[in-house]
Amino acid sequence: MAYTLAPLPYAYDALEPHIDAQTMQIHHDKHHQAYVDNLNKALAGTDAEHKSLEELMATISTQPAAVRNNGGGHYNHSLFWEVLGSNGSQPTGDLAKAIDSTFGSLDGLKEKMSTAGATRFGSGWSWLSVSGGQLQVSSTPNQDNPLMDVAEVKGTPILGIDVWEHAYYLKYQNKRPDYLKAIWNVINWDAVAARYKAAL
Ligand code: MN
Repeated sequence: MAYTLAPLPYAYDALEPHIDAQTMQIHHDKHHQAYVDNLNKALAGTDAEHKSLEELMATISTQPAAVRNNGGGHYNHSLFWEVLGSNGSQPTGDLAKAIDSTFGSLDGLKEKMSTAGATRFGSGWSWLSVSGGQLQVSSTPNQDNPLMDVAEVKGTPILGIDVWEHAYYLKYQNKRPDYLKAIWNVINWDAVAARYKAAL
């Protein structure tokens, strides 16, 4: 019943030049693998061993820090690989309408999520999530996410941007805002739209 790391759903260099192949390889094969391994270690032999990741997130305040950090790490990165891609898509249909009505435009959403990520002190994530049928932007520290019962802003995440230094430092060094500008070129909006539909 242990968790396993799924292969990256595209080549390491698929997001070049915006996200470099070496960053993707280390991020997926080393960082994400470590979250999976450490989550399995933390859960082994406990009552929570057979809970789903979503169940764990919803009751994370009752779990030790190792489960919060590594369970969040596994959930967040699994979502992250899914919402990135090189298909050059744009939001369409109901998702595009909801973005326009909530944030004025796609640029309005990008600005809000980029600001949430740029102003997150230390490590964390910028999120687009759905709560009560409404889109909302928030950020979390460390490997927390909006599914967690400890989150300030709770909801179902449909897009997450990793702002840990390991996500961008090889190419962008200290320039987190440059990474946050570039990543919009490689968002798989079809995947975000599918998550939006499922969240409603
Ligand atoms: Mn990461």
